[in-house]
Amino acid sequence: MFDVVVIGGNLAGASAAIKAAERGVSVALIERHKKPFFPAHCGEAMPNTWTEFIDLDGIGCPKNEIKRIILNVSSPKEYSLKLKKYKALIFDRNFVENYLLKEAKKKGVELKLGIRMSGFNAPNDVILHNDKTIKGKIIIDASGISCQVGKHIGMDTKLLNKQIGVCIQSRVQGDFDNETLKIWFHKPYAPFGYAWFFPVDDKTANIGIGIPGGQKVDLSDLLKNYIKDVTGGNFKVTHNFRACVPLAPPMSRLYKDNIMFVGDAARLVNSEWGCGIGNALFSGSSAGITAARFIQGEISSLEPYQESMNSRIKILQRGYRHREKNENEKKYVKTYRRNYSLISSLNKIFPSFLQNYISKIVLNRIG
Ligand SMILES: Cc1cc2nc3c(=O)[nH]c(=O)nc-3n(C[C@H](O)[C@H](O)[C@H](O)COP(=O)(O)OP(=O)(O)OC[C@H]3O[C@@H](n4cnc5c(N)ncnc54)[C@H](O)[C@@H]3O)c2cc1C
Repeated sequence: MFDVVVIGGNLAGASAAIKAAERGVSVALIERHKKPFFPAHCGEAMPNTWTEFIDLDGIGCPKNEIKRIILNVSSPKEYSLKLKKYKALIFDRNFVENYLLKEAKKKGVELKLGIRMSGFNAPNDVILHNDKTIKGKIIIDASGISCQVGKHIGMDTKLLNKQIGVCIQSRVQGDFDNETLKIWFHKPYAPFGYAWFFPVDDKTANIGIGIPGGQKVDLSDLLKNYIKDVTGGNFKVTHNFRACVPLAPPMSRLYKDNIMFVGDAARLVNSEWGCGIGNALFSGSSAGITAARFIQGEISSLEPYQESMNSRIKILQRGYRHREKNENEKKYVKTYRRNYSLISSLNKIFPSFLQNYISKIVLNRIG
């Protein structure tokens, strides 16, 4: 029997496995894919404040610093924000994913890549697709939006259509301004969601669309139109993918008996922006540390993990309520235009104030 079994080997799962193994407990990590996708199934954007969760420079991860954000809300009128101290980064997530798996192996985690969990018998038995069973004292569900273990123990893991962010993204080659990130909210490209242009460097960009599910639209067509518009028509698409992200309220209890939930499995995603990288890294690490301390008898319950996440849960709950308030189209457009017009005017009038204080608050709210 392993001390800890982690289901899912992406950001949250690999972070959990590393932190538990570092403290000397035995860990197995089960990941259905043999290796991480290239390019990653992600916009790859994060605020530079999240480097406290992953030291991109320290691990040598390529990144692009964004100095200007251009926002549109359902019209060609642009709201522009200049960033200084608090910036957005577009980073090579595939590099990070490979790095984390290598680190996990170095720390002694038994990696089971290309192996899918197909069932679970509480409290300890993880059933694999090859009918083998792996036993764990603590189980960490890091399986993303499908929340595999939660589903098998009968938790209500179903999401409403509007609580699923349906995304499509292309990796695009062209001649780009690599310092400017663009986001187009709502119509015509992304009803009740947004279309993004995230430059990886001056020749490559992640261009995508994410909208709440349940809407009858042709995402491929919308993306084609957006790519034409945002690149000026001079581009070449090299990769395409579709993926989903939870836009639901976060789980309020992040563990049940010996099972812990982290990252997207726990719905720790900002439901207005679909950002979950920071919380995946943080929750995974915190769960891994707590699991090891519990196994080693330092603590008598998994509650410290819950406590470490409570303030983040509150921020995410607030974000979800804010999103629900703006489900009406008129209100949605009005609120977003008012907010971005205010922020961009402030940015012009008091650039340092915005760049040194407000942008930190905004970036923290995203996470
Ligand atoms: C298109 C798109 C763009 C995004 N862009 C951004 C962004 O720019 N910034 C940001 O902050 N967030 C972004 N997000 C959200 C972010 O990607 C997620 O919040 C983050 O990946 C969550 O990490 P995770 O490890 O919890 O889950 P995941 O990354 O979903 O990992 C779950 C892992 O579990 C594995 N798994 C699932 N089921 C099983 C099983 N039965 N057996 C074994 N393994 C299993 C999967 O293969 C996967 O590797 C984006 C999401 C999408 C869909």
